[in-house]
Amino acid sequence: MPIDFNALKTPAPTSTALTQPFWDAAAQGRLKIQHCEDCGKAVFYPRPICPHCWGKRLVWKEVSGKGRLKSFSQVHKPGHAGWLPAAPYVVGLVELAEGPTMLSFILPGAQPPRAGDALQLAPTAIGGRVLPAFKPVETATEEEAAMSTETKDGWAGVVKGRPQVGAFAERTRRTRASDIEAFTDITGDRNPLHYDRALAERSVFGKLIVQGGVTSGILNALVAEDLPGPGTVFLEVAWKFVKAVGVDEEITGRVEVKEVRPDKPICKIETSVRNGQGELCLTGTATVFTVPLQGA
Ligand SMILES: [Zn+2]
Repeated sequence: MPIDFNALKTPAPTSTALTQPFWDAAAQGRLKIQHCEDCGKAVFYPRPICPHCWGKRLVWKEVSGKGRLKSFSQVHKPGHAGWLPAAPYVVGLVELAEGPTMLSFILPGAQPPRAGDALQLAPTAIGGRVLPAFKPVETATEEEAAMSTETKDGWAGVVKGRPQVGAFAERTRRTRASDIEAFTDITGDRNPLHYDRALAERSVFGKLIVQGGVTSGILNALVAEDLPGPGTVFLEVAWKFVKAVGVDEEITGRVEVKEVRPDKPICKIETSVRNGQGELCLTGTATVFTVPLQGA
């Protein structure tokens, strides 16, 4: 049966003026440590001056909650009788991602603890107060995760294979009045800016313009035909439409690969569409996923 740590009759921490921010944060389930504004280093345990540069400008900041088990003890005979119902339990030296090491209570995981285990802050009510305990990150050990990344090619079965960072592709086409109608057919967008020539000419655009989807559509063709190629869909786009495109205008779309994930067929690309004068009409980034179609 799991132990009810909150029912333990453990002694309360002693807070002082110096350590009060730590305990206040802990009570809210947060972990704050000092940071030195002079040298930029993180400091723990709490001190009036920075142990790295002797600076006095120490401020309290919340940490990421990520850490690593540097060393640990399994406690069978607690130093205080209040801990007896929980024994044996694990007390560990947690190396925080921010640098300092702190002593903390380590919650039991699926496996016995090992030095080097990835840990995550797990605020836990112990003896009637919330304390910054840690728990093992259960997914997989870092070692196993690294091995699976090395051995598993997330791009296996992708028609054009894994793209290289820096690879790019371009396509050019000329917009037509029929693009507007085709897009209206799909979406129902009958904005007068696409149909009422006189009104559109009096607008800020000064001309009939095609729908944004017609402009960005060239990027659909690029990712699905050229780079990364067949099977590619957009997962996320961040596009700015910076200049409207009219009817019967040449547009050139461009995609360039910026980041490639090895474990999954996902990459980040830079995207743009320019008009015949080379002016930027659309600019931004996208994340794309390429469904492996070979051997599917
Ligand atoms: Zn310092």
